Amino acid sequence: MRHPFRVVVVTGIPGVGKTTVLTLLEEEARKRNVNLMIANYGTYMVNTAIKIGLVDDRDQLRKLPLRNQLELQVKAAESIISDASERLDERGYLIIDTHSVVKTVIGYWPGLPNHVLDVFKPDLIVLIEAQPEVIWERQRRDTTRKRNFGGVEDIKELIWFARSSAMASAVRYASAVAIVENPEGNPDKAVEDILRLMNKI
Ligand code: ATP
Ligand code: AMP
Ligand code: MG
Repeated sequence: MRHPFRVVVVTGIPGVGKTTVLTLLEEEARKRNVNLMIANYGTYMVNTAIKIGLVDDRDQLRKLPLRNQLELQVKAAESIISDASERLDERGYLIIDTHSVVKTVIGYWPGLPNHVLDVFKPDLIVLIEAQPEVIWERQRRDTTRKRNFGGVEDIKELIWFARSSAMASAVRYASAVAIVENPEGNPDKAVEDILRLMNKI
């Protein structure tokens, strides 16, 4: 039912601050001598997709035909766990930066369907959240990405799907689901919360 190392899947809607929080978490873990590997799922997917000429950047992935996304999703999960198995022992933590749901052009699509769960066997699924208006503002400010998801109402709907998808994915491996707030101007608060949760797995 589990890998020797702990597996924490970190989710949250685009622009909520997952990558920002996890970059800080990596620094903090190093200071505390916690053995951890952070894997950005989208980076694994986009590297393969660029190599075979499917996309130029990560924000085009969710617009690909679903069969292509599925193939990239399968490969990424396998590569992540293969890298983690080489680097981590039973004291280690694999932290995966990903999404419980992806808003594709044809509909909401699970980021953690059974075939992905069977590879990860997560101990914990963290759902990073912030107020919809705050997320909207973060998406707008961050010009390095092309998230363009419409307005606050769309964000509210996506948050609802993200919560239900996280819990649906938790069922298969009896993973816990924890909601962690990423407050404006204070991502360290989210880092502390995640470290506290990691301690209790
Ligand atoms: P995606 O799923 O699209 O990769 P993400 O959840 O990883 O998004 P980030 O790229 O980490 O989101 O953050 C989006 C933007 O919000 C960035 O410009 C980042 O600097 C900013 N941001 C993140 N956390 C905070 C915070 N606590 N306070 C203020 N700004 C923040
Ligand atoms: P991110 O940088 O986290 O936004 O990831 C880039 C893109 O990778 C996302 O917009 C999705 O298209 C894709 N992606 C990330 N995680 C998953 C997943 N678990 N399943 C399917 N697609 C994913
Ligand atoms: Mg990110």
